[in-house]
Amino acid sequence: MAEQVLRIALVAHDAKKEALISWARAWREALSGHHLCGTGTSAGEVMEACPELRVEELLSGPKGGDLQVGARIAARELDALVFFPDPESPHPHEADVQALVRISLLADIPLALNRASADHLAEAMFLVRGQG
Ligand code: PGA
Repeated sequence: MAEQVLRIALVAHDAKKEALISWARAWREALSGHHLCGTGTSAGEVMEACPELRVEELLSGPKGGDLQVGARIAARELDALVFFPDPESPHPHEADVQALVRISLLADIPLALNRASADHLAEAMFLVRGQG
């Protein structure tokens, strides 16, 4: 039976982009079988680091990308969100960041907010499917 293609969004604030790239590198093989999207800069940097991954580029976070991801979650068009926010800096789009977390809670989708939980999420999503 064909494995289910998961729809996974990737978002990281600037100070956390290295963490997201490192996570994507670690899981690149498993991720390559799924539909990935992300806020503009995060998506671009993940693809640059992992050329075999295709990540649909939405708008950059501060330009509305978080809201685009949130709209997909609201419409039940995403299966998981890996979102690494920077807890040490203020962001001009803080309201959008809160909206993204809120809709993820409301929709009850798997949400990983740091590397440790993203690894657990990937293990749950991929290893049980024999793709890790
Ligand atoms: P970016 O957006 O991936 O375009 O940098 C992330 C964010 O700031 O929410």
